[in-house]
Amino acid sequence: MNSVKVFKDPAKLQKWCRERKLAGAKIALVPTMGALHDGHMSLIRAAKKRGADEIVVSVFVNPVQFGPNEDYEKYPRDEKSDLAKCAAEGATAVFFPTPANMYLDRHSVYVNEEDLSKGLCGARRPGHFRGVCTVVAKLFNLAHPDFAVFGQKDYQQAQVIRRMVRDLNFDLKVVVAPIVREADGLARSSRNAYLSPEEHGKALAISRGLKALKPGARLSSLARSLEKAGLKVDYVECVDAETLEPRRKIEKGVCVLVAVYCGKTRLIDNRVF
Ligand code: AMP
Repeated sequence: MNSVKVFKDPAKLQKWCRERKLAGAKIALVPTMGALHDGHMSLIRAAKKRGADEIVVSVFVNPVQFGPNEDYEKYPRDEKSDLAKCAAEGATAVFFPTPANMYLDRHSVYVNEEDLSKGLCGARRPGHFRGVCTVVAKLFNLAHPDFAVFGQKDYQQAQVIRRMVRDLNFDLKVVVAPIVREADGLARSSRNAYLSPEEHGKALAISRGLKALKPGARLSSLARSLEKAGLKVDYVECVDAETLEPRRKIEKGVCVLVAVYCGKTRLIDNRVF
């Protein structure tokens, strides 16, 4: 197994990354909330493929991006296993901050993206993208990455981060890696751990429904098939893949996004056409 540096203190990570950068290293950042699975590993592999000398994986369940009735407390946490997976995949540094050292007493500065965050998950999870943008901006300032890798699994998030990087002139590239699925098609997610085998079975309707969508198909029939499988639809939307504005027709250049509740578990997935 490769040796991997472990940081808990933001200032120490920042110092090390600054030194590595000054020494000419190309730094990749992979932000995560931990409970790592093969979707996360694919981001590390994408960083390696792009020639990163240092791959910094952050593992932080960011309280600011959770709503009051969401699963912040019960979100799965397993530092030991996360560290082993990062090392095995070739990450060179893992950052495990605590809420207290990321958000100091009287923390009062937040980053708001005000266009792409309005709909979809932003509309259903007020304050979510404010929390995401704030923590990602902080991670950018700590890790000085040349590029940061995100997953298409969280399509809206990736678009919001791209916009934040553009609008706030962060000097880095955003790389978006494809969705990694289980063998049965379910998009990998740390929240899949909440699903009973029966719920897992129901959740397969999401990837199946998205896969079956043909240009010209109706979203209402997708929503109906999800409800029929026993899922509660939070939203099923067709939007312009760039602007996230609503589009009527399924055609090239759109993204269809789905959010459902499977029991108490909220699951998301999407397909770009
Ligand atoms: P999370 O730990 O769920 O916040 O995810 C951290 C990063 O991993 C985000 O950029 C996600 O989009 C990405 N990610 C999560 N699940 C997958 C997946 N199944 N395939 C690809 N990327 C993923």
